[in-house]
Amino acid sequence: MQDFVPDQVVVNSAHFIGGVYVDGGSNLIDVLRPSDGHVYAGLPVADATLVDRAVENAWHAFKTSNWATQPPRERARILRRWADLIEADVAVLAPMEALGSTRPIRDAVQWDVPFTAEGIRFFAEFADKHGGEVAATRSDHLGMTISEPYGVVAAIAPWNFPLVMASWKIGPALAAGNAVVLKPSEMTPFSILRVAELAIKAGIPAGIFNVIQGDGKVTGDSLCRHPKVSKVTFTGSTQTGAAIMRACAESGTKPVTLELGGKSPQIVFADAPDLDKVARMVAAAISGNAGQVCVAGSRLIVQRGAAEQVVAGIARSFEALRAGPTWQQATTLAPIISKGQADRIDGIVNRTIAAGAQLVTGGALAPRTGNGSYYLPTILAGVNSGMEAVNSEIFGPVLTVQVFDDDAEALTLAAHPDYGLAAGVHTSDIGRALRFARTLEAGTVWINRYGRTSDFVIPTGGYKRSGMGKDLGRQAFEANLRIKSVLIDF
Ligand code: NAD
Repeated sequence: MQDFVPDQVVVNSAHFIGGVYVDGGSNLIDVLRPSDGHVYAGLPVADATLVDRAVENAWHAFKTSNWATQPPRERARILRRWADLIEADVAVLAPMEALGSTRPIRDAVQWDVPFTAEGIRFFAEFADKHGGEVAATRSDHLGMTISEPYGVVAAIAPWNFPLVMASWKIGPALAAGNAVVLKPSEMTPFSILRVAELAIKAGIPAGIFNVIQGDGKVTGDSLCRHPKVSKVTFTGSTQTGAAIMRACAESGTKPVTLELGGKSPQIVFADAPDLDKVARMVAAAISGNAGQVCVAGSRLIVQRGAAEQVVAGIARSFEALRAGPTWQQATTLAPIISKGQADRIDGIVNRTIAAGAQLVTGGALAPRTGNGSYYLPTILAGVNSGMEAVNSEIFGPVLTVQVFDDDAEALTLAAHPDYGLAAGVHTSDIGRALRFARTLEAGTVWINRYGRTSDFVIPTGGYKRSGMGKDLGRQAFEANLRIKSVLIDF
């Protein structure tokens, strides 16, 4: 794919309910291109009435279509066809995704669109390969479990990987036979509408997959509280996760899956297999998507003997990055989602420097395109665990560096009081790697690598305030089913 011309990308600004585009919501939110700050559309905010219409449509489709009742093999076949259509649509979908988000076109083509398709394909395979349990507890008695879909699942997605994050929610929910109402982030609302159109083309019955647009306070909250929503699956900030859990508790004790924030450590030992390679990995894990990644490896915890070489290697990798708009092939450093967020990042960096941290590189906004915001990949050394940049989820390309001497100190530094999403351990001592994997309080531990490629079979999800439940893996599929026990005397 070549560079693309942003003004030539056309988006639909509406809701998608019952298989058709629906207008509605007189309040409009400005939707900006993060790359240059240009307002390119107004997003209608669905109020409680429109949310009700979407959920009723989903409920009706769940009850009257054959989505849940057909042979699961057929459901799997339709979902696979949907995945194929998404993949084949890359020339349209990738620019749409790149235009409105922080995803450079090269990444959107190579990762976001194919991974969205692959996620749906992965879950399609579970539809007909899942059974229950049977137990004969007496000779005249049989007990069994049957898994059933919930009905209507509400999915709420963030802006950092709009299509991929949505697919991790809707893939398992639909494969399990549910109907879904998805609310994308109000900052990146449009690309998923194209995916919804393709769902109809693939043969998913109208009303089984709906998209409702709007903010969190009105649209998101009404969706979570709707009496016909039986489960909520959410990816976003820890603060919003808590609000959603409250809404679910107050409106029917609904089960929730919460994928929330993180502040993940990268622990590098001096005996790591190849320190220059580790440095490149650590750099990529905090500069990819400009650090706007839930599992961004934002805290480097490095053994004294390796610190100088690793930090120098990271700084070199940072220098090679090129900030630019998402529609240019050459862009390797993504824009920050908004000017407000870029200023917030800068504020945290400056306050941490004022508190005594030492700036190794970066520490400022990068030259901008139009009114877009870019932040220079930043390294802060000489920090301690009490400092703001070490404690808060920055969601930007900012790496803090802490030096340790022994295993116990590394573990103490790695522990975060609130978050437990992911961690990296780099060492050639397999015993130590496994001891760390067992001891670290994190939902994912990567050893001698960092980040997720195509290993969908291994679930992802956080410990502590980083969330509950899992995306991906068999576990994500099963979380979209409820279990009925049937006990028979004969
Ligand atoms: P956010 O919490 O601000 O918003 C996420 C979504 O929730 C949006 O669609 C928003 O409109 C909606 N929302 C906001 N308030 C709501 C409410 N009261 N009720 C219902 N919905 C509401 O998060 P964000 O800024 O879009 O995303 C960044 C955050 O997401 C970061 O903290 C990041 O770590 C986290 N994240 C986590 C994972 C993971 O897998 N753990 C993955 C990606 C992003």
